[in-house]
Amino acid sequence: MRPRGAVLADPVLDRMLHSQDEIAERVAELGAAISEDYRGQEVALVTVLRGGLIFLADLCRRVDVPVTLDFMAISSYAGGGGAVRITKDLDDPIEGRHVLVVEDIVDTGLTLHYLLKMLRQRRPATLEVCTLLDKDARRIADLPLRYRGFACPDRFVVGYGLDLGGRFRNLPFIATLKDEVMG
Ligand code: 5GP
Repeated sequence: MRPRGAVLADPVLDRMLHSQDEIAERVAELGAAISEDYRGQEVALVTVLRGGLIFLADLCRRVDVPVTLDFMAISSYAGGGGAVRITKDLDDPIEGRHVLVVEDIVDTGLTLHYLLKMLRQRRPATLEVCTLLDKDARRIADLPLRYRGFACPDRFVVGYGLDLGGRFRNLPFIATLKDEVMG
């Protein structure tokens, strides 16, 4: 398996940021921390399609308290300051439940800020966030990220659910793109 920092063959990809092994190890640690914190309770894991799907699938199998899975899909308004339109809402109510939002990456945080505000109005018992990647250099909204996998450099990354125009979600690792690709 190729290590962190490896140069990748795809002409669009630059370097491996997190290998498959490294991700698996960190996801197991996050799962253990979540299991410990929610011991004796049931957690509603809520994920935003499509990027969070891969992380959720691995994370939920590392959590050993009862969980339910639910999904939302959103689309951002151009220049909307993080305002989003829900294109698919959760199937189940979250009132009185322990909700953990599972995100692939938090960048400016505007999308998540808006989403949390909306979910809070549904009066969950608790509402927390678990993000795999935290691009904190670009953060605008002040967000409570209870769990985070890795700090992410200010680069566009793909793989493990993250895409570029729909591609690369199925890469088992996370990679940076070549600068010229992003212009
Ligand atoms: P935010 O509102 O936090 O600025 O944006 C969050 C969304 O932007 C993420 O859910 C993701 O869809 C997208 N995003 C931000 N940074 C990256 C990145 O490095 N790679 C990919 N593929 N998407 C990103």
